[in-house]
Order: sequence, then C-alpha cells, then structure tokens
Amino acid sequence: MALTPIISTAPQRLLLEPDAWERVLVVAPHPDDESLATANLLDRARAHGAAVRVVFCTDGESNPWPQRALERRWTIDAAARRRWAARRRDEARAALECLGLPPRCALFLHAPDQGLTRVLLAGGQEFLARLTVALETWRPTMVAAPSLRDRHPDHSAAGVLVRLAVSRLPAAARWFTELAYVVHGPTPAPPALSLPLTSAGLARKRAAILCHATQLALSRRRMLSHAVHTERFLAPGTARVRHPVRCVAMDDDALVVGLDGEGLLGGRLYVVGQTAAGRVVVRSSTVRPRQRDARFRVPAPLVRVFVKRETSRLFFDGSGWRELWLPRAGTPTDDGRRRAPAGVAAPYEISPSRISPPPRPGTRAAPR
Ligand SMILES: [Zn+2]
Repeated sequence: MALTPIISTAPQRLLLEPDAWERVLVVAPHPDDESLATANLLDRARAHGAAVRVVFCTDGESNPWPQRALERRWTIDAAARRRWAARRRDEARAALECLGLPPRCALFLHAPDQGLTRVLLAGGQEFLARLTVALETWRPTMVAAPSLRDRHPDHSAAGVLVRLAVSRLPAAARWFTELAYVVHGPTPAPPALSLPLTSAGLARKRAAILCHATQLALSRRRMLSHAVHTERFLAPGTARVRHPVRCVAMDDDALVVGLDGEGLLGGRLYVVGQTAAGRVVVRSSTVRPRQRDARFRVPAPLVRVFVKRETSRLFFDGSGWRELWLPRAGTPTDDGRRRAPAGVAAPYEISPSRISPPPRPGTRAAPR
C-alpha cells in the first residue's frame, strides 16, 4: 500500500477578472480579522460597486484579558461576555463603515469564540448549515476565508469549516474565486494574489483597525502591524511545506495517516474526513514522539481529509490543518488531475474557479 499525497497545494498565481468583484463575501473568525486581513480587499470591492457581505463566525466574546483591563474587573461572567460581544460587534460595524460599507454588510453567526475547533471536531453540523446558507443565499463571486495554515486554532478551524460548507453548495452556486488569508503566522511567497494599497487605502485600513478599540488595549502594536502596503492571499488549500502530516491512504475500512516521524513531543492527531456522499467523519488519537503513522476505522471510504497534529500545549498551533484528497476521490480528468465526485468540491477544479475553471453552469450572477 503506497502512501502518496494526491494533489499539490502549492500557491498559484491568480489574476482576478472584473466580474470576480461583483459579489464579495469575507469570512472572519472574529471581529477585527476583516480589518486586519481584508480591509484593502473590502475597500476595492466597494470601489468596484460590489455587493459585500462579511460573515463573522464568532462575536469575539471570550477575550478576558483586554476585558479585565478595560472594564477594571476581574470576574468575567456570562453577562460580561454578552456585553463584550455586543461591543465587538459594534466595533466591527464601525470598521466596515470606515471602509464605506453599510453596517448591514455584517452577518454574525454567534459560534463560540475560542471554540471553533471544538465545533469542527463535534462534526459542526449546525454551524455548517448556517455557513452553507450564508454562502448559498449570498451567491458570491469571490470568497475570502482564513487559511488552514493560520496558527490560531479558531482561524484554521474556520478555514476547514468554509471548505466543508463550499462542498455542500449546489454546483451552480460554486462559481466563485476562493482566497485564503493568514493573520497569525507568515504568508508564504509567492502568494496567489497580492493587493497593493494606495496611501489613501492604507489610511482607511488603519482607520478600520483603530475601530477595534477593545483589541488595541493590549495589542495596539500587533494590530497596527497589519496596516501594511500589500494584502496577500493564498489558494485555499495551501498547507505548510513542512507539515507533520505527510500523506493519507485508505486501507480497506481504515484511513492511514502518514506522519513525518519527527518531534520529541507526543500530542494528538485530529482527522476530519468527508465521504463521497458528503458525510463528515471525525476521528482523533494520541500520537507518540517519532510515531510514523496512525490508523483510524471509518464507516465508508473517505474522499477528502483535513488533518492536524497538535503538539504544542501553548495556545497557537505549530502547523494548522492540512487538506488531502484520497485516490478514490474520482477518476482522472483529461489533464491528469483528479475530478471530485458530485457534491464534493476539489481544489483548483471547482472552488478557485479563476485558477482552473470548470464548465460554466448556466447563468451565475445574482441580482444585487
Ligand atoms: Zn481572529
């Protein structure tokens, strides 16, 4: 049995066609990520006359140290968290107004802050349903979402949840350019897309970031370090080159995960798999130092998996999630690449449509 990665997720250059800017949707794990990562993208969208939606996964309510500092209280109870969440939602709307966008652009899904990995590992059904509806009803021409490689667990989990939600969309609703952004950690060069800022654009981005006063209290320097001259975006499945998960394969009714066998620390291995019917299967196990593979019994062959090896006991991840496709994902296409079965979006064939467009499914543009 050969263990072989199926599809390269190396960054690819992306040139946006004008109609990619018609209906822009940004997914932000927390209020402030829209300003830190996509203020220029949103600014350009407004300049193009785009219809814009920003979907906030959480309200950013679990943020105790800035809240203690600003509210001069030690105990953060449920009422205090609700108050903080409302404050952060207001900051997000104000930041959008700074970019010339009306507050109604914001949609809050109210998932638990610092809990998106937990949501994902529980199967994420309710949240996935809401996210899928948000995508399907908006009918975007461009989606920017967190990268799987972001070191913040909420961000990388949000990236996986968006990938899963996209695969649930009917084919006619999947015609959009998909971009990924990194807030925590470096964006590898070359990015798929670079958006340079004008001096006026940089001033608007800085103003949008400054709307997030709750986050400036303890992290002003870090927050303003994102007001840079270029926003960079990746193709959505881009993993770290030295990711500890090397490859996956099905062996009868088991998924085999190949690890790099490096590292002196044990940890946990998490798998979120998807069957050809779109069913989400979640598994996890403890991994020992230098362990080279792990096996998981699964109820049906998986066509795609997201895998993360968690070794650090610190808050931030070492490597984030890696997306891998399995040999049974479908039959080879004419150009030698793999075609996903119906209902499952494969990288570079369906989602990032401007990179490798699929046959255009009927009319696409929705009315504004
Ligand atoms: Zn965030």
